[in-house]
Amino acid sequence: MKAAAFDYLAPRRLDEALEALSRHGEDAKLLAGGQSLAPLLALRLASPSVLIDLNRVDGLSDLSIAPDGSVRAGAMVRSRTLECSPALARAQPLLHAAMPWVAHVQIRNRGTLGGSLSHADPSAELPAIAVACDATIELQGPCGLREVQAGRFFQGMFTTALAADEILVGVRFPACPAGRRQGFSEVARRHGDYAMLGVALTVDVDAGGRVSAARVVLFGAADMPVRAGAVEAALLGEPAGADLARRVAGLATEGLDPRSDHQASAAYRCELARVLVRRTLEKALASTGAGR
Ligand SMILES: Cc1cc2nc3c(=O)[nH]c(=O)nc-3n(C[C@H](O)[C@H](O)[C@H](O)COP(=O)(O)OP(=O)(O)OC[C@H]3O[C@@H](n4cnc5c(N)ncnc54)[C@H](O)[C@@H]3O)c2cc1C
Repeated sequence: MKAAAFDYLAPRRLDEALEALSRHGEDAKLLAGGQSLAPLLALRLASPSVLIDLNRVDGLSDLSIAPDGSVRAGAMVRSRTLECSPALARAQPLLHAAMPWVAHVQIRNRGTLGGSLSHADPSAELPAIAVACDATIELQGPCGLREVQAGRFFQGMFTTALAADEILVGVRFPACPAGRRQGFSEVARRHGDYAMLGVALTVDVDAGGRVSAARVVLFGAADMPVRAGAVEAALLGEPAGADLARRVAGLATEGLDPRSDHQASAAYRCELARVLVRRTLEKALASTGAGR
């Protein structure tokens, strides 16, 4: 099958892209890496009359890493850039650790941070990383810039807080505090496939060796990345010892109601949630901790 005919616009400036988006409204689609959109067009699951290509828009591909380790990445930063930057690996180890799990290298060469977050596949890695890192998402519309915390940006399957006339322009990842432990793992049928289920987590340990904050995020487990609130609550204030992961991992499925599909049954996803949370936490707690 081939895509239905569409007009193609390639603005050079953000204001031109926003103007085109306002003018064409729901008839338009933004094109980033095209790795999710192009298949949708080819299958005619999307038939926009206009494509607005973001690839030539000035300033959307900037990646800046501040001395404290906080990062701002423009929406058009490619997955492969996030994967291959040694400075980013030091500043944001969790983000860096997840990148090899995103699809295949050819797809990471084209796919973008903004495209992945906007597409909001519930089994995708980057949305979960954004929630685990408490990232701030920058949305530019005709009336200016607004910021949404990643935890509020994802609203359902392929559904986000983006308004029809807005463009996701960048993402800010806060600096990792000293003593932060982080972990990432997932299970997929083949490497490069979307995850059946995955876990991204950060655990902050204070000078006395107790957990002072935790964000444990599951993906592939619901319609969007979800925090395992019962696990997080059980971690708080506990000594970050060897048996802690085993004691709290069973809570990973509290409030969870995963789907059954061709990839995995709901029961299997629940089992994966418990096992992956335990293993990922064990490894993270045994590490020396990142941050500056
Ligand atoms: C075979 C295959 C395997 C894959 N496996 C995985 C995987 O394991 N994990 C994973 O996470 N992803 C996977 N992907 C998807 C891939 O990571 C995509 O790159 C990503 O989901 C979309 O990014 P993109 O830049 O290609 O966006 P596009 O495909 O260009 O756009 C996707 C959607 O987001 C909208 N959009 C794009 N940019 C913006 C923006 N700045 N502001 C507002 N809206 C925007 C578009 O209009 C479109 O609706 C896979 C893709 C393929 C083809």
